[in-house]
Amino acid sequence: MVKAKEAKKAKTSTKTFHNYIGGEWTKSASGESFENLNPADTTDVIGRFPASNEEDVNRAVEAAKNAATKWRRTPAPKRAEILFRLGEILRANKDRFTREMTREMGKVTKEAGGDVQEAIDCTYYTAGEGRRLHGFTTPAEMPNKFAMCVRQPVGICGLITPFNFPMAIPSWKLIPALVCGNTVVLKSGEDVPLSALNLVKSCEEAGIPKGVVNLVNGHGAEVGAPLVGHKDVRLISFTGSTDTGRNIAEQCAQTNKIVSLEMGGKNAIIVMDDADVENAVEGSLWGAFGTSGQRCTASSRLVVHRKVYKKFCEKLVERVKQLKVGNGLEAKTEVGPVINQAAMEKILGYIEIGQKEDKAKLACGGNRLTRGDYAKGYFIEPTVFTDVAPTMRIGQEEIFGPVTSVIPFSTLDEAIDIVNNVPYGLSSAIYTQDVNQAFYAMQELYTGICYVNSATIGAEVHLPFGGTKATGNGHREAGTQVLDIFTEWKSLYVDYSGKLQRAQIDLVEI
Ligand code: NAD
Repeated sequence: MVKAKEAKKAKTSTKTFHNYIGGEWTKSASGESFENLNPADTTDVIGRFPASNEEDVNRAVEAAKNAATKWRRTPAPKRAEILFRLGEILRANKDRFTREMTREMGKVTKEAGGDVQEAIDCTYYTAGEGRRLHGFTTPAEMPNKFAMCVRQPVGICGLITPFNFPMAIPSWKLIPALVCGNTVVLKSGEDVPLSALNLVKSCEEAGIPKGVVNLVNGHGAEVGAPLVGHKDVRLISFTGSTDTGRNIAEQCAQTNKIVSLEMGGKNAIIVMDDADVENAVEGSLWGAFGTSGQRCTASSRLVVHRKVYKKFCEKLVERVKQLKVGNGLEAKTEVGPVINQAAMEKILGYIEIGQKEDKAKLACGGNRLTRGDYAKGYFIEPTVFTDVAPTMRIGQEEIFGPVTSVIPFSTLDEAIDIVNNVPYGLSSAIYTQDVNQAFYAMQELYTGICYVNSATIGAEVHLPFGGTKATGNGHREAGTQVLDIFTEWKSLYVDYSGKLQRAQIDLVEI
């Protein structure tokens, strides 16, 4: 259940927002809409958004199809020029987009600002690819023959994004798709439609031609599923939970789609006995409770050497108890609400499981906050479990909330096994002063991202992003690696010998 469905009485008159299809802002085909509510105060209605269905998806795909040839043939440096303009527009509106994001998603404004900044960084960095999009040349095996490889756009791309990075994640998909010459239909998380709309409106303002970018608002089953099933969509780029992603991959197989999946995580920080414990505690706080733990890279396990275990746990719990929970729009708030009622119930459910599991000790937190203004939103106390065994459910499953588990260990190999023995493989970290241990851990940790002496979060847009095992299906976003998602390779052979030359058959005499 999304927060949108739990509307109470609106405080102010409600704004109505539309889909963006073929360059027009339009209502849903059914005329239905849903409310977007502030998770810190569900009496605050941000607006009504179209509750779209298959008909809207079909219209959007048709618009993307009509715009495809012209956009594909527009020289990539020209496409990039428009994207640089988009970067300027995002920069000029950063403060407003930040506040609006906090209001609909809940994360504190500092972090929402980082989210918008990531979209800006992604736009500038990826637009630069308009003058690269490198292919390669290579010798041919026959004389007077030329061989080269170029990238070609894949066609119409369906982009499906989650709630937790409302502008950054759509931009990670949208900008590379566009610079590569594809047209797109975007379906963002239903809890955060305004941030995606702000991004798409900025695309319109930048002068991206009609039909190249289309936005269809709505829910997974009504909008996401028909987009995945549409025969004219060539690629689905998805970020979200592993269960949804796996289901999407199965559907994509029916129509031979390319599918790139960025999914869940159960990330861990290792704290060695020689670590700077103060620094490790600060990193753990940021990693576990930033964005209220609703990051795919959240540090939801803290794997701590027995020699510093007591000291680390004491300092951690002391600092966690000081964290200020509240509305993300207030400057002093450090931890905002979680996204919706269902998420809150799931997280509280895991806290209950943790308390029932053998050995684990609830060291602090554990409750929903309900007094005063807290009662209007979805607030959970930052929660720490200590003495967690690696195989417990709270040590294995993605909780996606302000809950972390501290797990003791004795040797680095044991710690590495603990980190690796979960279904996911997104991010890991190690705190140590010993270069040998750091390099050994970097080699052995089977994750897509690994940090030394910082938490599991903090990706930069020019490095590849993604994970192993149940976190992904082998693709990487960001960096130049994302171009391999949004283009297909075409090998070109030019024979200028003026005669028939048969590769592998007409052997060249030396
Ligand atoms: P979710 O899977 O519930 O939803 C993601 C998107 O999929 C939403 O837009 C939703 O409407 C859509 N969807 C739902 N059912 C669908 C269906 N049947 N067909 C097509 N689309 C459908 O995820 P969420 O709760 O929004 O996000 C949290 C999850 O995202 C966590 O598991 C987190 O780890 C993951 N995540 C991963 C990364 C990464 O890069 N690996 C980044 C951010 C979030």
